[in-house]
Amino acid sequence: MINNILNRENQKGALKDTLCADLNILFEEQKKEWPFLKQKFENLNSAAVREIQVNNSVVKLQYNPDRIHSTAADIDKHLVEPKECFLCVSNRPKEQRGIQYGKYFEILCNPYPILKDHYTIVKLKHTSQSLVLHLKEFLNITSDLGEKFTLFYNGPRCGASAPGHMHFQAITKNVLQIEKDFDSLRPDFVKSKYSNEKISVSLSKNYLRYFITIESSSIKDIVLFFKQLNIILKKITPPGQEPLMNVLCNYENDAWRLIIFPRTKHRPTHYFEMGDKRIVVSPAAVDLGGLIITPRREDFDKITKEDVIEIYRQVSVTSEMFSYLTSKLV
Ligand SMILES: [Zn+2]
Repeated sequence: MINNILNRENQKGALKDTLCADLNILFEEQKKEWPFLKQKFENLNSAAVREIQVNNSVVKLQYNPDRIHSTAADIDKHLVEPKECFLCVSNRPKEQRGIQYGKYFEILCNPYPILKDHYTIVKLKHTSQSLVLHLKEFLNITSDLGEKFTLFYNGPRCGASAPGHMHFQAITKNVLQIEKDFDSLRPDFVKSKYSNEKISVSLSKNYLRYFITIESSSIKDIVLFFKQLNIILKKITPPGQEPLMNVLCNYENDAWRLIIFPRTKHRPTHYFEMGDKRIVVSPAAVDLGGLIITPRREDFDKITKEDVIEIYRQVSVTSEMFSYLTSKLV
């Protein structure tokens, strides 16, 4: 049985080489001792996938009925009732084990997977989601898992189903369409005035959903800029909330790349329609990355190119908000 205490600070550089391997061992052991998890990963092998060509790119749909609890989660309930939080140790299935990461986080196999590698990185203590307060950890975990994984963060009211408990997720690297398209999108990026020899910041408006990219080898410079960005995003955020965002992060050639999707809302109007017009989606980082999860077969079958464009348009910041961001960043 794997030791479920793996302390980054004690292991220093060695961890980077062993963490991916240790996660693989955890996953294989969890499949043996937790039939529920094994079944969910087997279901994923037969999940239907459909591609929709949209402009110069492709958006994939995945029919994944196991995701219904996440997609249809009552966010307000999870924000106010930590005793029901499924990420807290006391409420987890007895079979679920993890690997401790540093003093404050633990890595768990996700029992409702979207991709063949899917881990949840959970703060040990029940603490509200806040990326600006946990960005260093997010970057450190990303570089330690960088060989095989892309990390992501879903903010509260941005697709996260447990917004009351700080967590990240890790999935198979370079599978999302935006990761495949990224280099071809780069010529259209608008460079920010915050770019310098240590950090590159750019804005993109030609990919159906607006996004901001940060690239740097310096954690210090990323954290400094992100604090600045957070202040700017707060100007277009209701008081008292973290700016709405989804963030994808990967690590390649000794540098981090964060793709930040600023948002306006948790769900598009399609979610609240009745009858045939209803489409049950709660877009989060993976969906904005180009893989839209549909827990209902009928939605998987009927979603059109126009629906995809409209869903992205509705949850992204408005063109006016993006112009405001551009005026502050460029
Ligand atoms: Zn919790």
